[in-house]
Amino acid sequence: MYYPIKTHSKIIRKLPKAYQGLLTISNDVEGFDFDTFIQFYKKINSTSNCEWGRGLGLELSSSFFFYSETKKNFSYFKEPLAETEKSEYADKILNLIKLGYIDTIHGLGDFSQFGNCSKQMINRIMKEIKINNIKLDIFTNHGNTKNVTNVGFQKYQKGDNEDNPLYIGHLLQELGVKFIWTDKLVDNKNIWRFYDSIKYQLPLKQIFKMKLTDKKEYLSFRRFRNSGKFAPTHSEFYQQLKSINWKKFYQKKSSINIYQHLGYIRQKGKLIKFEKKHFTNEIEKSWNFLSSEVNSGRLLILTQKRFLNYLMMLSQTKIQINKNSIYLETKDKLNNPSNYFQGLSLNKSNVDKIVYLDSELEFEKGEKMVTIPFKKMGGICIK
Ligand SMILES: [Zn+2]
Repeated sequence: MYYPIKTHSKIIRKLPKAYQGLLTISNDVEGFDFDTFIQFYKKINSTSNCEWGRGLGLELSSSFFFYSETKKNFSYFKEPLAETEKSEYADKILNLIKLGYIDTIHGLGDFSQFGNCSKQMINRIMKEIKINNIKLDIFTNHGNTKNVTNVGFQKYQKGDNEDNPLYIGHLLQELGVKFIWTDKLVDNKNIWRFYDSIKYQLPLKQIFKMKLTDKKEYLSFRRFRNSGKFAPTHSEFYQQLKSINWKKFYQKKSSINIYQHLGYIRQKGKLIKFEKKHFTNEIEKSWNFLSSEVNSGRLLILTQKRFLNYLMMLSQTKIQINKNSIYLETKDKLNNPSNYFQGLSLNKSNVDKIVYLDSELEFEKGEKMVTIPFKKMGGICIK
């Protein structure tokens, strides 16, 4: 469920500052209408007053749909058809992608009702990606077996089968997707965690390499589910958080990726769209709990993309030390080192410079450590 963070050297800290644990929430977007989505996201992410009260100043990103067969979800395109126009939310979605509050493509859309996806619809998305230069780091499978453009090793999943007309591998490459989540990559506290891992030979790691059917290699990641028979909604969020042994989590300097459908609550077994009226003490207590952990300085919360990239950066960074100079090394050559090394923190205080190839990186000095700070996210200023 949670995984101790790993680094190559003892000098590289698992976490910056006094943080002892790292958390992210991976939100499958179904259930959200755009207005509720944006107001709720402002409440969680911003620090100022908003329609739902004072912002909590946490970090929370989301996935989105290009198409939706139901009006319950907002989507990029107006209709689930190849000849459709963009929806009234398309430009706002593009803006949220640029700001980093949307970082995940959730399936190719929501096709859980009719399963009516076509090659023309895939081409339409491709065109849109190219026109707007859309980049997304993460793809997550969505919904039931009608979503045949899902990827992975279950029979219905054809999105990564090159011989299938509904192949989407080229589209994932164009988007720049690095991280993939497929359905079996869930952690539960019960025996099924081990059963699935053995049956499908899935490593018990937060992130690991995985080749899809088309032989293309991605990084896969696990999400913490632990909500019993049904997938987790906002109503089960508190229960998920409370099932974590926080003492051990912090002791082991761990990371956890919480699987959620924040756009739904469950009432008497029924799924109900989450709205402002549901944001009562019962739901709010999860957020207040996270907020107090963050304010205590123990817990670092990052958006999904920042979380996955941070852990990958730690797993790939090696250092050489020459007196008071630090030289950073990675396997692949980087275009934007100051972005890449965000959060990197070293147990060494007498440091004059941190260098990657021929560029010097800015860093902050702390007590017995130096840190390349995380860049601040821009405000979520969308109406
Ligand atoms: Zn979904």
